[in-house]
Amino acid sequence: MAKYFVFSIDDGTVFDRQTIALFNKYDIRGTFNLNSGLPGFVWYLDGQPIERLNLEVSFPLYQGHEVASHTLTHPDLALCPREEMYRQVNDDVMNLKRIFMRDVTSFATPFESCGDREAEIIREVPGITNIRLSEVDESFAMPRDPFHIKVTSLNIDRALYLFDAFEREAGTALFVYAGHSYDFALTDSFGKLETLIRRIKANSEIKNVTMGELPPLIF
Ligand SMILES: [Zn+2]
Repeated sequence: MAKYFVFSIDDGTVFDRQTIALFNKYDIRGTFNLNSGLPGFVWYLDGQPIERLNLEVSFPLYQGHEVASHTLTHPDLALCPREEMYRQVNDDVMNLKRIFMRDVTSFATPFESCGDREAEIIREVPGITNIRLSEVDESFAMPRDPFHIKVTSLNIDRALYLFDAFEREAGTALFVYAGHSYDFALTDSFGKLETLIRRIKANSEIKNVTMGELPPLIF
């Protein structure tokens, strides 16, 4: 029996610096889902500028963490024709492999539109062994299929609440926290993230793994 905890952080923004500083302080490894086709892209959320990193320059930041594909330019996959969807993932994987000089095996869907149609196309991209969806499932159940991994929580307050039940879970259990570093920045929640990390580290039954390490654990 084992319990696994995954941090899956999207979009590769400047706020990843704060998240990774916390992860490194506690020897936590995260999976960072990056878009290689949007270097330096800035957009606004609640009036705050959110800037994507230029990965060609910022790649050393992610040392020790998993780097995963999140498409080239973050389109709504439901609106993408088959060939464009394949290109969005395949080209992103190839760019990330070149920039980070390592294999890229994980994919996380942008927005919330990744269903069976999208998963069937993305799983054909060479090297991809697992897909994280945006669908929430608070059951802590191990996925039956590595190409349909659901999220346990997208919200740090909810994650802290659910963590009690996760610790009480008797069998093999999985907690996938998914979100963005700017979620913590915009809600002043890096302290809550640190609380969650400390609770993970304090429980010897819980093993922190990356998305890429999950497929062999799923059967
Ligand atoms: Zn995203």
